[in-house]
Amino acid sequence: MSDAMTVAFVGLGNMGSPMSERLVAAGYPVRGFDLAPAARERLEAAGGETADSAGAVVAEADLVILMLPNSAIVEAVLTGESGVLAQARPGTLFVDMSSSEPLRTRALAEVVQAAGSRLIDAPVSGGVKGAVAGTLTIMVGGAESDLDEARGVLEVLGKPALVGPIGAGHALKAINNLMSAAHLWVTSEAMLTGIEFGLDPTVMLDAINTSSGRSGSTQLKWPNFIVGETYDSGFGLSLMLKDMRIATGLAESLGVPHTLSDQAVAHWSTASEDLGPAADHTEVARWLRAQEKEGSAE
Ligand code: NAD
Repeated sequence: MSDAMTVAFVGLGNMGSPMSERLVAAGYPVRGFDLAPAARERLEAAGGETADSAGAVVAEADLVILMLPNSAIVEAVLTGESGVLAQARPGTLFVDMSSSEPLRTRALAEVVQAAGSRLIDAPVSGGVKGAVAGTLTIMVGGAESDLDEARGVLEVLGKPALVGPIGAGHALKAINNLMSAAHLWVTSEAMLTGIEFGLDPTVMLDAINTSSGRSGSTQLKWPNFIVGETYDSGFGLSLMLKDMRIATGLAESLGVPHTLSDQAVAHWSTASEDLGPAADHTEVARWLRAQEKEGSAE
């Protein structure tokens, strides 16, 4: 690692909290900010510093990581009333690790450049478990030289790979999550069918995981969060739906067919309205099971 590199970390939620703590443990001076005081206290307890505004944490930073819910919030933090761009040192490298919207990221990169700084997108896959273990897949969009500068920090969090120019990481991440969400829905319908037939879910998963129906949903989500009914993956249903809409919006703007994807969005959106904003995304399996019971009671 570079001894001199000071990292600012904005957004210390389910992902940002373990990620920033890994950087502290790796020896980086980390200054973090989150709107939630409890999130700031977690970083302080892990040995990081915090401040009471995003501007205060970026002022001395060489590299600023953003791990926020969406593009609108990333833009507000950078360019809004208390925007941090104006407070950053000239040449600061901003790394948006949130799952943001690729076209908005491209536009934001121009604003950042005009302010004398740089932006790359580096969204992640691997969930809270991957954030804790430092095994995230990191999909980087931007200049290779900027990735090289951030590489040491990113390698503490997972495996960074350049996937294209600015916005490419955010496009790829949304596409991945559209697939993941569609897989989880059909996997849940299929698993519930097997269970109703009398099959044991663990027996089913063991067979499917060496067969052609396997996916992240059968290999990780059903075994870890659904079979034991904990529904605690740490990835919110509303965040998944946001990513699906980014991907279908991209398909629409590019003239690519997205009929099945639209249906997936509609199903997830109905579940989201019923389950509410705090639901974990794996709760769609519980929700589907409840529909089945309602259906059979009629
Ligand atoms: P989260 O909701 O747990 O955390 C977001 C944090 O941002 C919260 O602590 C919130 O207080 C903070 N925040 C919101 N507005 C802010 C502002 N203006 N200034 C400072 N802090 C602010 O979300 P998460 O699960 O950590 O996800 C973060 C991003 O990573 C999202 O874009 C999500 O789609 C993506 N992601 C999540 C997962 C996962 O498994 N949870 C996996 C991959 C990618």
